[in-house]
Amino acid sequence: MVATDKTTVPLREDFWTDGNEQVRLIGSRCSSCGEIFFPKKEKNWCVHCNRPTLEETTLSNKGKIATYSVVMQQPGGGFYKGPVPYAYGCVDLEDGIRIETLLSADDFDQLSVERDVELVIEKFYDDEDGNEVVTFKFKPV
Ligand SMILES: [Zn+2]
Repeated sequence: MVATDKTTVPLREDFWTDGNEQVRLIGSRCSSCGEIFFPKKEKNWCVHCNRPTLEETTLSNKGKIATYSVVMQQPGGGFYKGPVPYAYGCVDLEDGIRIETLLSADDFDQLSVERDVELVIEKFYDDEDGNEVVTFKFKPV
């Protein structure tokens, strides 16, 4: 977790775990067919093979950018409260799952398709109560 004077709160409690100092996304893996899901499924039903055999799992913290774009304007609807511009895209994790994620970069020129990235937890925005809301992103390595 990021060290700060403010209280940091995760965007969602079940997106990641940082036990043993190592941050990992939490997903579901099917013990019958091997399919992986992120975010974690609420129920243990695998929609890939139609069996009740999903188990919670942690995912690889490394992957490659599959596609991305840099968003220059605040999206409408109020669902996005982070800084603008920002980068958003798909990352193929080493587990073989493609996830949608925010991308972190000091300079957007660091981003490119096939670029190796790793999981980081970073500030997203300050909420009304003065808490620092953090979320997962993938950052070039
Ligand atoms: Zn399955």
